[in-house]
Amino acid sequence: SGDTGGRQSESAQRFQTHIDQCDLRQANTDTVCRIVATTESLEDVWGTQLPDQVGMRWVQPHTTIFTGDVDTACGAASSDVGPFYCPADQDVYIDPAFFDEVLVGRLGGSPAGAAQMYVVAHEFGHHLQTMLGDIRRSQQDPQGASSGAVRVELQADCYAGLWAHYATSTPGPDGGEPLLESLTPRDVDAIIQTAEAIGDDHIQRSGGARVDPDSWTHGSSEMRRQWFLTGYDQGSVEACDTFGARV
Ligand SMILES: [Zn+2]
Repeated sequence: SGDTGGRQSESAQRFQTHIDQCDLRQANTDTVCRIVATTESLEDVWGTQLPDQVGMRWVQPHTTIFTGDVDTACGAASSDVGPFYCPADQDVYIDPAFFDEVLVGRLGGSPAGAAQMYVVAHEFGHHLQTMLGDIRRSQQDPQGASSGAVRVELQADCYAGLWAHYATSTPGPDGGEPLLESLTPRDVDAIIQTAEAIGDDHIQRSGGARVDPDSWTHGSSEMRRQWFLTGYDQGSVEACDTFGARV
């Protein structure tokens, strides 16, 4: 959250007023405020875990909340592409309408707040991959069930799981209460339902297409479920080595 510099679109600027008025309680009921609170929780968790586990200082990415079209250092984009991370400007781009319209409405993901938090945490995973130099493996090997692209996506799921592992126990920036009070088994189920909904095989099947692993870019429902849970159960960056693993 915060200032995103000079390239804010008009819609992103309009959201700024909304963002400025968010408080923690609204994160339970308001999607924009939930996104903001999640970025703050992610900052707390990675700000602790990255130094502890990797010996690196966490640098918080920008987050741009927009609707319609947005200009990014990765080119112009529209809401149609869904939430994404642009390594060139280290910015996470999210249209809050994606959750209801596409994730729940079209793909069958969960409407629970935890599912939205998982998506934000996944995008932050791509930021960590950029910091660690792994993100490029996606473009080097962009397609197929065991491709670099799929391994990058599964690792981002694992990093999202790692965030969930620590989110309810990591103190806030002032040493106060964790931003996320609890993550119940129902929340975890909502995340898993959502990870499965955005698996390539499920997307292909629900679009009436043949399941074609050679064309996958994000991994199957089962792979996504499994790697989220690996991060969630183990809480370890090392356990998220999807490049060394058989996937
Ligand atoms: Zn991704």
